[in-house]
Amino acid sequence: MLHVIHHPAYVSPATDGSAFRFDKYGLVMDALAESGVVFQRHTPQPMPRSWIEAVHDPAYVEQVLTLSAPPEKERRIGFPVTDRVMRRSLLSPGGTWLAAKLALTHGYAANAAGGSHHALADTGAGYCVFNDLAIAANRLIAEGDAARILILDLDVHQGDGTASLLAGRSDIFTLSIHAEKNFPVRKARSTLDIGLEDGTGDDAYLAVLTDILPRVLDDFRPDLILYQAGIDPHEDDRLGRLALSDAGLDARDRFVMRQARGRGLPVASTMGGGYGADRMAIARRHAACMIRMAERDR
Ligand SMILES: [Zn+2]
Repeated sequence: MLHVIHHPAYVSPATDGSAFRFDKYGLVMDALAESGVVFQRHTPQPMPRSWIEAVHDPAYVEQVLTLSAPPEKERRIGFPVTDRVMRRSLLSPGGTWLAAKLALTHGYAANAAGGSHHALADTGAGYCVFNDLAIAANRLIAEGDAARILILDLDVHQGDGTASLLAGRSDIFTLSIHAEKNFPVRKARSTLDIGLEDGTGDDAYLAVLTDILPRVLDDFRPDLILYQAGIDPHEDDRLGRLALSDAGLDARDRFVMRQARGRGLPVASTMGGGYGADRMAIARRHAACMIRMAERDR
């Protein structure tokens, strides 16, 4: 069965002057319901401050918690840090951590938020406030839930924040496959980065993934995968530069799950990026991702 983490406070009103919309975190639950798939909803707790501070600069954490992030940081994030934004910024890492805990029991679970891979130690960036992937990975290892974690980032944008926050960690492998010319302009160094050319389509994309992922899994031998399953490599995405079809995204996620299940590896996914004017279409694309990841092999 599909296990999904959602909190009503994942949804927040649009903020003045920002193109970012928080509504897809509610619409994705509507899309799951409309699909008829059987799923169990779980409610996350806010990530405790100490676990956020274990990864982020405490002075930045303080700025977010007291709603006093300076304007240049809010500009870099892409929206103002309001009370609602602050609350969801604590819940989202809590959701990713809970997804991992559930994945350890059930094999797969999805946080219906998260994937905030651009957030850096002392500032947010690119619509990301706190880096749920890095925070959750660090906590899971510190508490003994996993010894080695692969953060698999297939969002169209490079996971620069995750890479920089976890640089030097031998127990966490960061793998980012992204559009080389897309945001961020200055890339960080993941354990392994694959930058793809603009317009890369299904066949070339899947050739890269099928070449790289099994080797990383065999060499690094993680005991858990945190998957940033952004759907923005889709050809219709407003901020993507790649050209995956729906079938290509489907094949991507099924390949990830086959590789994981074949090795007995639990997978926790986060939503990541997905942008477009048709909000419900985006939500359905995210929902389809979770549904197929929870399905047994086909
Ligand atoms: Zn993205």
